[in-house]
Amino acid sequence: MNNKGVLVVVSAPSGCGKDTIIAEVLKKTDDAFVSVSMTTRAMRPGEKEGVNYYFVTQTEFEEKIDQGEMLEYARYGSNYYGTPAGPVRKLLNEGKTVILIIEVQGAGNVKHLFPDACTIFIIPPSFEILEKRLRGRGTDDNNSIIKRLEIAKDELARAVEFDYIVENDVLEEAVEDVITIIKAEKLKTNKMKNKLSEVINNA
Ligand code: 5GP
Repeated sequence: MNNKGVLVVVSAPSGCGKDTIIAEVLKKTDDAFVSVSMTTRAMRPGEKEGVNYYFVTQTEFEEKIDQGEMLEYARYGSNYYGTPAGPVRKLLNEGKTVILIIEVQGAGNVKHLFPDACTIFIIPPSFEILEKRLRGRGTDDNNSIIKRLEIAKDELARAVEFDYIVENDVLEEAVEDVITIIKAEKLKTNKMKNKLSEVINNA
């Protein structure tokens, strides 16, 4: 499928700062939107319905899958996470940049569905720093942190499947890297074809 807009998929092990990076990217770009995912996990303190996620029950999530309303979904830990298809397709049709912040399995599914999606994997400077960041965040209990670190090892092993790898050591640099990648994506020949035809037709 050839979209008018640019579909950007960002994955990273939990605790790599992907949400912070993308929040900064959004402040500095005017036509980019982040897709709000649906999840069955419990809401964390400070999270808001419809902003961080659409929080639903397992039954509700499975209904959405059955109705074909999910662009992709995956199980992460013991919960479902997925991207509602409607808003993403609409924004891409309008020529907007849509950013999905999802785990690696979902990223692979999206790349399969949209081969021209741009996939970015964010890595920490070291595994030790990742563990420190996860513990410092104080949002998960020890068991959940151990589970997330195990998943992180598997995820890091799949980083080579992505188009780009960005290291999040200095936040501002990681943000600039992501902005640069998105800019370059918009200049790819298949995204510039309309502009090119316009110039040729008026020659
Ligand atoms: P968290 O519980 O920390 O918010 O998210 C856990 C993982 O699920 C993260 O890697 C996050 O990027 C991923 N995730 C969030 N939304 C989606 C989604 O819609 N689809 C998929 N496949 N993964 C998601």
